[in-house]
Amino acid sequence: MPTGSVEIVAVGTELLLGQLVDTNTPFIAQRLAESGIDVYATRAVGDNRERIAAAIREALARAAGVITTGGLGPTVDDLTKEAVCDALDLDTQLYAPALERMEAMFAALRRPMRPNNRKQAELPRGSRPLSNPNGTAPGFIAFARDGGFVVSMPGVPREMKPMLVEQVVPFLRERFGTGEAIYTRVLHTIGIGESEIDHRIGDLFACSENPKIAVLAHDFRADVKIMAKSSSAESAEAAIAPLQQAIEERLAGYVFGRDAETPASAVHSQLQARGWRLAVAESFTGGRLAAALTGVAGSSQSFTGAVVAYDDSVKIGQLGVNAGSIGDFGAVSEEVALEMARGVRDALGAQIALATTGIAGPGGATPGKPVGLAWIALVDALGRQRASRFELSGERETIARRATTIALGMLWRHLAH
Ligand code: ATP
Repeated sequence: MPTGSVEIVAVGTELLLGQLVDTNTPFIAQRLAESGIDVYATRAVGDNRERIAAAIREALARAAGVITTGGLGPTVDDLTKEAVCDALDLDTQLYAPALERMEAMFAALRRPMRPNNRKQAELPRGSRPLSNPNGTAPGFIAFARDGGFVVSMPGVPREMKPMLVEQVVPFLRERFGTGEAIYTRVLHTIGIGESEIDHRIGDLFACSENPKIAVLAHDFRADVKIMAKSSSAESAEAAIAPLQQAIEERLAGYVFGRDAETPASAVHSQLQARGWRLAVAESFTGGRLAAALTGVAGSSQSFTGAVVAYDDSVKIGQLGVNAGSIGDFGAVSEEVALEMARGVRDALGAQIALATTGIAGPGGATPGKPVGLAWIALVDALGRQRASRFELSGERETIARRATTIALGMLWRHLAH
């Protein structure tokens, strides 16, 4: 049996019917990869006791352990625990702390506790419980007589994720003696293409094996990932820091954030640093800018609001856009984009404003104005203004999403420089 390897089994008939996208498996696989633990295979099985047990047996024949998610709940189709017992030839035993927790929870909710809830406090005999602060069903690690093990966690991602990170990964690292883990730093760029990034930092790729560097392109954004395999966070940081500095210098003006930062959170930080607030006028982006901006915690300090000015009458009535400008240049034009930005800045009492106007398609194209044409304008408190024209490709949703990213990038660059 290979040491240091596991297989992942996602349990749930919904997964097989295509009704539920399995996000648990990639999440687990990523966390294990970071910890230097190999995943040999992954699969999904339905809520069927025999087939779950068979999947566990087959996986244990190939790998040192199996990780399952789903099927731990109190209902009749939650069969993972029974299947683990079948596969490992174990019976169950009551795990008192889980029962007490459940009793306290039901008492607090003034709801009667049913026998099927009690069933959730029973774990395969000899197993190690995994506490679940975010739900009722505890997880567990059950042990086979020949040294194999089965980790079972709930299917609900909010319950599974902390259980994996806080309890399962430390268990696996200890069990497999993997002293090293992969530590990652992500540098987010905007407004620079993948090939230009490659041109500027390609030599660093070639000469660095550990840390490793990778570039991942998204829509109008690219991430540079620096990954260090190391025995501690401190030594990883020491390895990453000089490389990070070199990359940030070579990509100066394009790196808007690190790790969990987003274009909207970078804009929020820049606005806060100046004590400015932003207003937006959106036509074809339909509120996506506002959604991105309000997605940042504390955004009320930097964002006043948005007007989704879709119809020309709203552009004119709410934002003070000149009817003549629309008549002369069309709603998708530099003039109208700038007037929308000025109008929303004044109407919503902001220091800086962004406006978008464009043709998301599939209809609406006119001679000289193809689907995907967009104007994005920006006006600030110092009277500086700019408008840029883009021709975006893709379907309706893609075009609107791309324009949103571009607008945030334009604003970030304006504020940062
Ligand atoms: P609990 O005991 O907390 O109810 P459970 O182990 O019984 O959890 P399931 O009943 O299998 O979990 O699934 C509950 C919900 O969790 C599903 O309806 C789905 O929303 C989510 N879920 C389950 N498996 C996955 C998965 N592989 N990927 C993403 N979400 C999942």
